[in-house]
Amino acid sequence: MKLDILAISAHPDDIELSCSGTLIAHKTLGYKTGILDLTEGEMSTRGTTEIRRKESAKASEIMGLSMRANLGLPDAKFDLSFENQLRVIKVLRKYRPEIVLANACYDRHPDHVRAAELIEEAVFKSGLVKIETEDNEGGQLPWRPKKVYHYIQSVSLEPDFICDISAQMEQKMAAIRVFKSQFFDPESNEFDTYISNPEFLELIEARSREWGHRIGVSFGEGFVQRQFLGIKNLFDLV
Ligand SMILES: [Zn+2]
Repeated sequence: MKLDILAISAHPDDIELSCSGTLIAHKTLGYKTGILDLTEGEMSTRGTTEIRRKESAKASEIMGLSMRANLGLPDAKFDLSFENQLRVIKVLRKYRPEIVLANACYDRHPDHVRAAELIEEAVFKSGLVKIETEDNEGGQLPWRPKKVYHYIQSVSLEPDFICDISAQMEQKMAAIRVFKSQFFDPESNEFDTYISNPEFLELIEARSREWGHRIGVSFGEGFVQRQFLGIKNLFDLV
């Protein structure tokens, strides 16, 4: 199966928080979307791996994903080794996405920053013919996605462009709320964290509203990119 867009994240729930509206919007337009989580988020203060797997599966359904996989790298401990790059390259070559969405290059959680580096290296090297990989079906052909865009998560970076998610905002918040182990749940007895208070979800909504406002719509998601954006038609920009 070939994907149009593959979103890659350090932890399950990074994507729901940051760019799920964009994934849902493109799914609605007929594009095939998928997610690769690098870790299972097992170092999180709240919840367990088992619970997060179930939460991820539910969120995937809400987002209408064509696939979701987990690389099983160690949370808070993974590095940029060539071995880890190869594991990401194998997924890129298997699903051949045109566009990759990646963690922010600068953020509060160090895993996000490392993930951004790991993903960019893997995207580039995935196109090198002399790096050989194979999966169950044998040798894989090289594949380099056309673009990598970094979604914005905890630190409020200045976006290079904003995607209109006004029609998807409700589904986005539903996909976030299924991660009950991480976010506000009045019935939870677990430790409070930076993201478990009710104001955190209000912040997500407020930020989407601000980005939406900047492009004249109700809600938006911001992205940063390291390369220049090229267009052929001025009317491609809204
Ligand atoms: Zn994270």
